[in-house]
Amino acid sequence: MSYQCQECAYKGRSFTGGVCPACGSYKVKSGRPIKQTEARKPYRLALSIALWIYLAYALANKLL
Ligand SMILES: [Zn+2]
Repeated sequence: MSYQCQECAYKGRSFTGGVCPACGSYKVKSGRPIKQTEARKPYRLALSIALWIYLAYALANKLL
């Protein structure tokens, strides 16, 4: 597996300690594309919001 530094684009087989030997940067990524795990499923948030709106309407109908 190859790694590439994101600071200076240095390519190497391995970075000892995860640090680029050329510039000392920690921004070293592996050859494999990193999946964006931070991309959360937006429908879950929308579902929870819809649920809260429904709950609010239900309470309002009950009270009025
Ligand atoms: Zn570098």
